[in-house]
Amino acid sequence: MKKAVEILKAISKLTTTSIIPKLSLNSPIGYTWQLANEILSCPPGNEFETLEVLSDNNYLERNFIDKLILCPHCNEVHVAFREVCSQCHSANIQLQDMIHHFRCGFVGKEEGFSRLGKIVCPKCDYPLRHIGVDYERPSQIQVCNSCNWSGSSPFTEGHCLSCGKNFDPDNAIERIIHSYTLTPQGLLAAENGSLSSINNNTEIIDIQYGTLKI
Ligand SMILES: [Zn+2]
Ligand SMILES: [Zn+2]
Ligand SMILES: [Zn+2]
Repeated sequence: MKKAVEILKAISKLTTTSIIPKLSLNSPIGYTWQLANEILSCPPGNEFETLEVLSDNNYLERNFIDKLILCPHCNEVHVAFREVCSQCHSANIQLQDMIHHFRCGFVGKEEGFSRLGKIVCPKCDYPLRHIGVDYERPSQIQVCNSCNWSGSSPFTEGHCLSCGKNFDPDNAIERIIHSYTLTPQGLLAAENGSLSSINNNTEIIDIQYGTLKI
């Protein structure tokens, strides 16, 4: 509680009366609010909760800065998204060119057409010479090197670099990062050096009826 008032005091001394987060690789939520972090002397990012409580109680006002995706297992921001095999979920997949042989209508992976340095149709054994005349490359497909799955729609998976677990992107946690601006009630608390005395005196915090001294 005492530290929370110190934070309000420190913010009130800033010309902007706002505390703006900075990117931080050491913070589990990707940002740190340096001034609050120093006052609380906590690991970077842990000041978030105190700032949120102060906002919930109208001492601070939130302003949108960023929206992040957190790991649903450990709530940390260090996640990567990648395409994996939709059958076995291995990340060991690669794009492969396809070939469509006009003469026999066969469509298959390009590597299946390679024979002694030449392009030969594996279905009809006919050599392919001219693209656009003998054959075309219709599209690319993903091929899994682990289970041999192939297809055009791999699965997108979240991979947490903090806890090592994987997750469905639909289950990821969204975290909105705010800057916080001192409210009139926050300024009063900073001046009085107490949160509780404000709460006991509703008259002076009644912003609606203009009885608040700011
Ligand atoms: Zn063929
Ligand atoms: Zn696979
Ligand atoms: Zn995690």
